[in-house]
Amino acid sequence: MDRQVDLVIIGAGPAGMAAALYGSRAGLSTVMIDASAPGGKLLKTYQIENYPGVGTVSGPDLAMQMYQQSIAFGAEFLYGEVVEVTQDKKVRLADGTVLEAKAVIIGTGAREKEMGIPNEAEAIGHGESFCAVCDGAFFRNKDVVVIGGGNSALEEAQFLTRFASHVTIVIRRDVFRGSVKAQKEVEENEKISVIYHHIPKEVVLTDGKVSGIVLENVQTKEQQTLACQGIFPFIGQVPETSFVKDLGILNERGYVIANEQLETAVKGIYVAGDCKEKDLRQVVTATADGVIAATNAFHAITGM
Ligand code: NDP
Repeated sequence: MDRQVDLVIIGAGPAGMAAALYGSRAGLSTVMIDASAPGGKLLKTYQIENYPGVGTVSGPDLAMQMYQQSIAFGAEFLYGEVVEVTQDKKVRLADGTVLEAKAVIIGTGAREKEMGIPNEAEAIGHGESFCAVCDGAFFRNKDVVVIGGGNSALEEAQFLTRFASHVTIVIRRDVFRGSVKAQKEVEENEKISVIYHHIPKEVVLTDGKVSGIVLENVQTKEQQTLACQGIFPFIGQVPETSFVKDLGILNERGYVIANEQLETAVKGIYVAGDCKEKDLRQVVTATADGVIAATNAFHAITGM
């Protein structure tokens, strides 16, 4: 027989962990599922300095503290990959396990977008990476290229200068999308230079490893090859929501649509964090979402 639970939370990033804390503390039997270690993107973030109340903290340290607090009131962490959620809130895992929930919170976040250019598939893991914290140390004294000008690109480029001999940021416009503070830090860092008005066109591989990247000037269409041993694209995110694609709750970009209570068009299915359709994706907005979703799930389940 399927296992019955009050609240199933899919994803154990900041949104899921905050939801687990509130759900279990309110007395709901709560299971939080993730295919990876709990922490989500926090695990890939070197430093957080804008989560109120904790000053400057390492991403993995904050993840560990959040995780411990999230299970302190009885929430269970279950390792597994969710492959489907049905209209009647059955959550099916890849190993065949099915959990029947009174409420479900989708908190699976988003993963980094690939560039979609020739040779990229072969380059991933052989010089192309999406996580400076995880892989930066492999690029000691090497030349590295960061694609994108958002906060992720600017912060990861800064972090990579701890290892790389030089970091080149490539952006397609003449302005960054990231915060003024991050831009200033990048400008002041002697190990970073910026190439404006260029987009990546092809990864160059030598003996199966990244040895350069072909860039195209968006105005003149002129191409140049930049020699490098590492490529880190930070050009935005793709939501991890394929397991709910048949529920009719996704927008055209795959983000989950919800009302102010963070409930989707399917009663009892809520969303929290980066996979939700919204403007501001921060750790603090993810945790706030988790709290709102879990609290509304509690009210709906108990009628209180
Ligand atoms: P963003 O969407 O903010 O930035 C993406 C960057 O990649 C932009 O510079 C964009 O260029 C560029 N880009 C997009 N597509 C392409 C392409 N095909 N080729 C070349 N360049 C491309 O994504 P982030 O991942 O940086 O951030 C996501 C969210 O998370 C944001 O809300 C951000 O503020 C937040 N964040 C906050 C942090 C913090 O507060 N400390 C840290 C990290 C992320 P263009 O500008 O021309 O569109």
